[in-house]
Amino acid sequence: MTSPSPLMPTYVRQPVAFTRGEGAFLFDTTGRRYLDCLSGIAVNTLGHAHPDLVPALQDQVAQMIHCANLFEIPLQDQVAELLLAHSGMTNAFFCNSGLEANEAMLKLARLHGHAQGIDVPQIVVFERAFHGRSLATLSATGNARVQKGFEPLVEGFIRLPFNDLAALQALAARDAVAPRISAVLLEPVQGEGGITAATPEFLQGVRSLCTQHGWLMMLDEIQCGIGRTGRWFAHQWAGIRPDVMSLAKGLASGVPVGAVLADGPAAGLFTPGSHGTTFGGNPLAMRAALTTLEVMARDGLVAHAGALGEKLKASLTAALAGTPGFVEVRGRGLMLGIVLDRPAGALVKQALDAGLVINVTADAVVRLLPALIFTEAEADELVQRLVPLIRAFLQAPAS
Ligand SMILES: *Cc1c(COP(=O)(O)O)cnc(C)c1O
Repeated sequence: MTSPSPLMPTYVRQPVAFTRGEGAFLFDTTGRRYLDCLSGIAVNTLGHAHPDLVPALQDQVAQMIHCANLFEIPLQDQVAELLLAHSGMTNAFFCNSGLEANEAMLKLARLHGHAQGIDVPQIVVFERAFHGRSLATLSATGNARVQKGFEPLVEGFIRLPFNDLAALQALAARDAVAPRISAVLLEPVQGEGGITAATPEFLQGVRSLCTQHGWLMMLDEIQCGIGRTGRWFAHQWAGIRPDVMSLAKGLASGVPVGAVLADGPAAGLFTPGSHGTTFGGNPLAMRAALTTLEVMARDGLVAHAGALGEKLKASLTAALAGTPGFVEVRGRGLMLGIVLDRPAGALVKQALDAGLVINVTADAVVRLLPALIFTEAEADELVQRLVPLIRAFLQAPAS
C-alpha cells in the first residue's frame, strides 16, 4: 500500500482487478484467466459477455437507457409477465437492488397490518437472515455485525430461530390474544447465513400459519431465486406460494435491478403515490432482465442448474469425504456451500492464486454460486482445482 485509497473502506478487497469476462471465465489486468465460481455473488446468471445479452444491451443503449416512471414502459410489462408466469403471482414492482425490493416488502407488511387495524404491526424475521444494509433491512437482518454501530434499529421486528416451526406456532398462539403480527419474512435458502435451506416442512408450516392468521408470507429470493436452485424460485421445491417475494441479484445478469412480486391481498396494497423510485425498472435494466429470462427459458438453464448442481454436489462430497475438518456440502443446484469445521476466509486468496474465484460466508462455508451457463467440464475443473486446496488448507496447522 503506497497512497491511501480514495474509497471508503467498506470492503476488504482481494488484490486483483478483473477487466474482462467470457462465459464462466474472468481475466485480470495481466491477462491471467480465472474460473468464476461466484458470478459477482449470484448476479451474472448468463456468465460474462453472453452472446445474446451483449447485442441486446447495445441495441437498448442506442434506443433509450432511462425513462421516468411517469410514462408507460412496455419492457416492464414484458418482464413482469414472464416473472408472473413462472411464479403464479399477480403483479410486480421494479426497483434497483435487493435491499430496495426488501424495503418495498416491509412497507407492504406495514400497510397490510394497518389495513387489518393493527396500530404497531410486527414482522417475524429469523436468526442468521440477511436482508440488506438499509436501516430497515439491516434491522430485519439476523447478524449483529451488520447492525453494530447503526442503532437505533428500526422497530417492529420479532426474531425467531430459523427452521423452528414450534417457536412460530407458540408465537402465533400468544399473538392471537391481541394480534400485532402482520407478516413473516424469510429466505428459502439463507445465503449470507451459510447456505442454509428452510426445510420443506418449515416453509409449508409458515405458509399455513400465515394463511390461518392473515399474515403475509414474504420470501426473500434475492440470492436463491431466478433458477439458481434448479427451480425458478427456491420455494417451489416445497410446493407452496408466498404472498410477496423479493428478487434482485440474478434477474438482469449484472445490470442493477430489483423486483417485488405480490399475490392475493398484497397485490392491491400500493396505490399511486404510496411507493416509487426514479431509476427502478428503467428500459436498460428491463432489457437485461427480459433477455436473461428469455435465454434461461430457451436454453433450459433452470433444469440445467438443478442437474449440474446435483452432480457437482455429489463429486465434491465424494472427493472430500473422510477429510478431517470437512463437515458437508449443502445447498441445491448452483447454490452450494462446503461446510468446514473452522474459519476458512484464507481460502479465498489461496483459490485466487490457483485461478479460482470463490467466496467464504458465515466464516466457515465455502460458497459456490457459478453462472447458470456453467458446463460439466467447468464443474469438473472446479472440483479438480478446489478439492486439493481445501484438503491442504485443512491439513495445515492452525495459524
Ligand atoms: C444480496 C442480498 C440482499 C441485498 O441485496 P443488495 O442488492 O445488496 O441490496 C438481500 N437479501 C438477500 C438474501 C441477499 O442475498
